[in-house]
Amino acid sequence: MSIVQRSSLQAIPAYKQGATPGTDEKAFKLSSNENPFPPLASVTAGIAAELGTINQYPNAAAPELVGVLAERLGVEPETIALGAGSVEVAGQLIHATTNPGDEVLFAWRSFEAYPILTHVAGATPVMVPLDSAGAHDLEAMAEAITERTSLVFICNPNNPTGTIVDTAAVDAFMARVPAHVLVVIDEAYLHFNTSADTAIGMDFFRRYPNIAVLHTFSKAYGLAGMRIGYAVAPAAVAANLRKTAVPFGVSALAQRAALLSLEHEAELQTRIDELVAAREALLGTLRANGIATTESQANFIWLSTGEDTMRVDAALREAGIWARPFPGDGIRVSIGSAEANAIIAATLTSVLAEAPAHV
Ligand SMILES: *Cc1c(COP(=O)(O)O)cnc(C)c1O
Repeated sequence: MSIVQRSSLQAIPAYKQGATPGTDEKAFKLSSNENPFPPLASVTAGIAAELGTINQYPNAAAPELVGVLAERLGVEPETIALGAGSVEVAGQLIHATTNPGDEVLFAWRSFEAYPILTHVAGATPVMVPLDSAGAHDLEAMAEAITERTSLVFICNPNNPTGTIVDTAAVDAFMARVPAHVLVVIDEAYLHFNTSADTAIGMDFFRRYPNIAVLHTFSKAYGLAGMRIGYAVAPAAVAANLRKTAVPFGVSALAQRAALLSLEHEAELQTRIDELVAAREALLGTLRANGIATTESQANFIWLSTGEDTMRVDAALREAGIWARPFPGDGIRVSIGSAEANAIIAATLTSVLAEAPAHV
């Protein structure tokens, strides 16, 4: 007889990690929006110095890191809740705000984890299609709010399309959101966002009582493997985020790495600037070669390849580029090294030149 299991899990797809080239040394893994730069030497040295403490549990309150973040963000420490990556905190936000059957609203296509986390929490995902430019349709999202809606995710810039929401659009949206509904602005790619019009999560947190912001150390800070991120949320919500967290989920090593990254932010900013410049150069080359692309404010680009997606992905893979295809929809390619970006430009130019109608 088989073991009794939660029946609803059958309908939930497992989170799909970006494909990995394995031992192929000539291949570039550009499927998970990781930072192509190696960790800062100061960070790896700091982690090494902390290794002697791993027989002990970390300090779950992470007072040093929370203190530094609170000061930088100009908020009370009680409003900050850490997690093992901001994807964990996103799950905590759903657990903290939804009762069974409540609705979690977000755009689609957006971050792959949202529907999975929502189902696992026993809530119901409500997915509102992006507009034809691959951007959030905040008017349609406002229309989709019901009396069961308890949480809204706005992914800015959006993964995987790279588009942003602007301040005016989010203000207009907030005017239509009931005060008891929490709106979460997920800013995993904030550092790469150079748009002058973009909504900034912390500005909204200060101006509205029902906003939370998600930040991560995984992307711009290059700490994806350390698993650390956080929410800034109204204090009462942040208290419940701590209750829904797995105890000791954030290691002392991760806390140290995050602190050191903040300390060495100027060095990281140089890398961020390089990645942004590389993104613009790649988009410029593609456009100059007749390939229409979506504007991106993140560390990846998006190609609306539609039914042609798997053919284009196969060509990229053949050239050593492991991207993230979404069959029937499009391909997300993370910005990599100069060498990788040159291969992407050349491959896409040759593979899409014959099929300009797709983009
Ligand atoms: C990468 C990503 C995250 C954060 O991932 P963690 O590694 O768990 O911090 C959160 N949201 C979006 C939209 C992302 O793309």
